[in-house]
Amino acid sequence: MAYPQRPLLIILSDETPDTEQADLTLAPGRIGAELKGVLRLRQEALRIFEQQQAAEQQITRLQEELANAKRIRHELEVLKNAIVRNVSHELRTPLLQIKSAVALLHEEVDEEKKTQLVALATNSTARLEVLVRNITMLGGSLETSSGPIILHDAMEAARRNLRRLWEHRDQTHRIQAEIPTSLPPVLADKQGISIVLQLLIDNALKFSQAAIYVETELIEDNEFVEVRVRDSGIGIARDQLDRIFEIFYQVDSSSTRAYGGMGVGLAIVRLILENHHVSIKVKSELGKGSIFSFKLPVVRL
Ligand code: ADP
Repeated sequence: MAYPQRPLLIILSDETPDTEQADLTLAPGRIGAELKGVLRLRQEALRIFEQQQAAEQQITRLQEELANAKRIRHELEVLKNAIVRNVSHELRTPLLQIKSAVALLHEEVDEEKKTQLVALATNSTARLEVLVRNITMLGGSLETSSGPIILHDAMEAARRNLRRLWEHRDQTHRIQAEIPTSLPPVLADKQGISIVLQLLIDNALKFSQAAIYVETELIEDNEFVEVRVRDSGIGIARDQLDRIFEIFYQVDSSSTRAYGGMGVGLAIVRLILENHHVSIKVKSELGKGSIFSFKLPVVRL
């Protein structure tokens, strides 16, 4: 809507006002007082018009936020339904492996074979654990309530869970997390960010052999903290970079099968960060490694 910019048309006359043509018809003796009144009215109209414009902008913004929240909720529902549909299939294989390994262990006398059976049962248990963990995370990630959080604490919570998940493979010593306690608090959901870190580091552990670095940096005039999870593993081809955030997408399902996982981790990461109005970025080179990063706003207390 445009504010009418044409000048006021005022006719000076003692005669009856011509309302068709003029905005105002003034008796010459009252020009000063009338004009002041008109200008005041015009200023008031301008102020109301500006207020109305601001309110309209606010409504548009709220409508966009609502649409975004609805979209995220819908995607989460789709993700949940897809997981529920796949769960029985995903559960059956490791469960059968554990069952048969345990049954065979009873009768097996050969020590080497016994060790192999224990390893099979242990790996299958880990796969089950990942599945249960993803489902639990999905339940939790619906409720994000942001407040000032200390990233160091979120990282420690992620580390505790990763230790539990990776302890039997003795891999967690590869995690080099340098999140200074002196970093200012950021606006986020602590549990949500801890899950994001956990899933990104979990992938980095799966798809690399060497150290994994979790780094933070104050950027954009100290208004944001950028968090990066960097590995020097197998990397991801350029044409796969968008697809990896899709539900159930795996670049090579055979390699992930060794460690479990069903291609939902990055979809959960994306949804949790979208709930924060934050996007996830990835830089990667085949054979060289990957960097996943996102930024959170600093809270000035
Ligand atoms: P999952 O790890 O359970 O397969 P994700 O959704 O977490 O599922 O990841 C999707 C796919 O993206 C993985 O299967 C893998 O192909 C690729 N990917 C994710 N993180 C990395 C990484 N750090 N290095 C190489 N490939 C990765």
